[in-house]
Amino acid sequence: MSQSLFADAMTRLDQALQHVSISSEAIERLRYPKASLAVSIPVRLDSGELKVFQGYRVRYDDTRGPTKGGIRYHPNVSLDEVQSLAFWMTFKCAAVGLPFGGAKGGIVVNPKALSRMELERLSRGYIDAIADFIGPDTDIPAPDVYTNATIMGWMMDQYSVISRKFSPAVVTGKPTALGGSLGRDTATAMGAYFVIRNLMNRHQKLPQVTTVAIQGFGNAGGVLAELLYDAGYKVVAVSDSKGGIYKPEGLDIPSVRRYQRDRKQIEAVYCEGSVCNLDDRQTISNSELLTLGVDVLVPAALERQITLANAHDIKAKFIFEVANGPISSAADLILQQNGICVVPDILVNSGGVTVSYFEWLQNRSGLYWSLEDINQRLQEKMDAETSQILDLAQELNLSLRTAAYVHSLKRLAKSIEAKGTQQ
Ligand code: GLU
Repeated sequence: MSQSLFADAMTRLDQALQHVSISSEAIERLRYPKASLAVSIPVRLDSGELKVFQGYRVRYDDTRGPTKGGIRYHPNVSLDEVQSLAFWMTFKCAAVGLPFGGAKGGIVVNPKALSRMELERLSRGYIDAIADFIGPDTDIPAPDVYTNATIMGWMMDQYSVISRKFSPAVVTGKPTALGGSLGRDTATAMGAYFVIRNLMNRHQKLPQVTTVAIQGFGNAGGVLAELLYDAGYKVVAVSDSKGGIYKPEGLDIPSVRRYQRDRKQIEAVYCEGSVCNLDDRQTISNSELLTLGVDVLVPAALERQITLANAHDIKAKFIFEVANGPISSAADLILQQNGICVVPDILVNSGGVTVSYFEWLQNRSGLYWSLEDINQRLQEKMDAETSQILDLAQELNLSLRTAAYVHSLKRLAKSIEAKGTQQ
């Protein structure tokens, strides 16, 4: 039986604690979630049958502000996973200096098996169940794996119905017609792109000679593939949960994206006898994609993709964690020994929550920003925090992951200590 995801997440905290002076009381606080809620959500299916779904919301730490984090719809959601994701959100928000703590939510469901109406009833039912736990000043949900702007719109509306006032700031990642921010849908990928560009520039690697493989072709991986392709990188492999495609000379990413959009489905990268066979692309499995001899590997799907089972086979020189927690802590050590540079999730995918913060600010002020403004502010934030983490790693001779955690811990420790010891 492998270690729980949360126990594994704690080892990252322990590693970072060796490099930062922080009170033992502050450390003790960071080992436990502030509050965890488990709910059941009864949903009337289109067939008339009643089905009950399990849901969770964990608020990990609110020292630096209201808690913030997405809601995941996936059959493998568990409390252990949601708690780990909420812990990572705490460190992610601190890593990029947002005035938020960390949270996460999830429902155990295969959303692809539900009709649109069933999905709407489930999403509204989840908000009914957690309404007292969330709020614009307490806990602010957002999209995550297999949730999107439409679902956030339903959730915000349901919360507004319950609270009897229009409450756009309770949820981010909404449709723009309901107070969503421009650029939120592309923000995770855009943030990751800025981090990749920063690192590649430092290593004097030109896009034209840099090969990239991306696992996951959803909102983060798919958009990132396009950004990298447009910047001249050679994206040689992409995949979704069903499998992937590979072309050593580089894939025509716009045609893959077009195909995905035309099919209007989340998973349309690999499909036998389809437009995927337009040219001479080979099909490959998800595990084969991870071990390709590329310069840059981007896990952009789920956690625990690189573990003791395959860490020795990884050949990429750089790994950018667009997914949350794709590498186990044991695998981290092997990658480090093999000289592979891992750029951690709490930095690489923080563009999403950064633009969520911008959305929350816009909702609270009623003043809406241009796309240009948003992308400009996102770039400034990503460049500044990336540089600080890279400098810290160099100064203390740390891995980038430990440096990112140390960077976050310093901010968290300051806030915890500023609050004093009276509870
Ligand atoms: N689910 C995203 C993440 O893991 C975004 C969270 C948010 O915007 O609050 O970072």
